[in-house]
Amino acid sequence: MRTCLATLTAGALVALAWFASGASAPASEPADLVLCGAAVYTVDPARSWARAVAVRAGRIAYVGSEEGAERWIGPSTRVVDLAGGMVLPGFQDAHVHPVTSGVELGQCDLSGLQDRNAVLARVRSCAAEQSGEWVIGAGWQLPVFPGGNPDRAPLDEIAGDRPVYLAAADGHSAWVSSRALELAGIDASTPDPPGGRIERRPDGDPTGTLREKAMALVGRLVPEPSLDERVEGLLRAQELLFARGVTAVQEASAGLADLEAYRAAAAPNPAFGAGALRLRVVAALDTDLDRGVEQVGELAELRRRFAGLRLHPTAAKIFLDGVIEARTAAMLEPYTDRPGDRGELNLPPERLDPLVAALAQAGFDVHVHAIGDHAVRAALDAFERAAGAVEARPRHQIAHLQVIHPDDVPRFRRLGVVALFQPLWAFADSYIVDLTWPALGEERSGWVYPMGSVHRAGGTLAFGSDWSVSSLDPLEGIEVAVTRRDPDGGGRPAMQPDQALDLPTAIAAYTAGAAFANRLEETTGSIETGKAADLVVLADDLFALPPERIGEARALMTLIGGEVVYRADDAPPLR
Ligand SMILES: [Zn+2]
Repeated sequence: MRTCLATLTAGALVALAWFASGASAPASEPADLVLCGAAVYTVDPARSWARAVAVRAGRIAYVGSEEGAERWIGPSTRVVDLAGGMVLPGFQDAHVHPVTSGVELGQCDLSGLQDRNAVLARVRSCAAEQSGEWVIGAGWQLPVFPGGNPDRAPLDEIAGDRPVYLAAADGHSAWVSSRALELAGIDASTPDPPGGRIERRPDGDPTGTLREKAMALVGRLVPEPSLDERVEGLLRAQELLFARGVTAVQEASAGLADLEAYRAAAAPNPAFGAGALRLRVVAALDTDLDRGVEQVGELAELRRRFAGLRLHPTAAKIFLDGVIEARTAAMLEPYTDRPGDRGELNLPPERLDPLVAALAQAGFDVHVHAIGDHAVRAALDAFERAAGAVEARPRHQIAHLQVIHPDDVPRFRRLGVVALFQPLWAFADSYIVDLTWPALGEERSGWVYPMGSVHRAGGTLAFGSDWSVSSLDPLEGIEVAVTRRDPDGGGRPAMQPDQALDLPTAIAAYTAGAAFANRLEETTGSIETGKAADLVVLADDLFALPPERIGEARALMTLIGGEVVYRADDAPPLR
């Protein structure tokens, strides 16, 4: 049986013969690399398929049949016979935290631990390993503890008189030891700060769990990571992203220290020539909600200072509410289990609207964190009111979108606002069953992550992982978008199966849709001639797998601008 490689090699000889005879058939300049032997799903506007891709000088020179690729093969062209599997545009993660997540991996990493004893055992070993005054970590899952509200007593038992600060996986709660509370001056008499809550025992004593703005009471005392630690964290994150086929990201929360880490990682390194940062990065610059429009000029100055080949600080982030699990998301109606409490917007419309308008006018794409239906509506209102002030096609986007009031679903299309979902969250896990449904009641529980409705209404979808809140693997997210079920199996039925997406739509949200959100769609996001050769090779054709196995597919190879940035051990050889 002839493989695509044999076909191509034979073809290449023919092509060379043509070349030698002066015929015009071969491409004027041969490709550097030809991939063949796999299903190529281009995610172009027609959602067309191909069998081969030729890459020259970092760009896609040809997409089409294997026969048509032959004329691109010259004496030094590397031809890779993929022998099955699939080629997709490199995934783009439109909401992820590479620097902080990478730093966390080097601290006390509690992610993925499913029960209390496992968490405490890890904290114990971290306390032994970390030599500083503080024990610092992140990643614990709220459902591991009753009410998402762990107590400080076991931390005190483990760490004695050392302060401990452990951020929850979702970043909206922190679990701290008694010594940490003491250093921060928090006791039974301390009032909750605006926008935050100190969880309390029945006698009023703090439990050790701090929500939202209350986290900073202790968090501001925790030593900041150094620039070197941030760069190390970023590069650690980059390796993990490449191994999952991610070629571009939107850093969803960029402060000055993060921008400095990106710039340091992007700078030419004397050891390698090129910089270590090869990921394409769009950064959403943090806005300070305690300030108003006067900060927009400073953000524009940051954008100018930090813009580079790999770093595009073109978005601005507004953190509009909290999370439902902690009852800090802003809802239109009160929480079912907290009468009278509907959470709060971090910024009321009279301050949100002018800020959004000023950011839009300054050319920023505004990236809003909104979980509750009130926050979603307030963001849409702000975009609607700012619409007169901005260019025809802004890339405003709302991330998370846990609950959207049905009246607001059509507004995404009408206002041109990108619906930036975290698809991996859209199944009935313990966050949903134990901590969300009781807060929402029956009707609103049916409005959770309504991707299908937004899509059917014509809205543009983009996907992001929000790593380290959850796994950064796009394939797991795509699986859940399609199944609405636990990617690790389990008996629970699909959550609102009518909100599931078809596979082409889910893939597009993690490629072309995310590229649109990232303002990178002119050069990336699909496999089309002239675009950058940002590609992922998967071991399986996702369309040939049962939907519940999509998350098990693996990236074999990841390319950015034609350069191989990841190769699995069992990837086909590069000849
Ligand atoms: Zn986030």
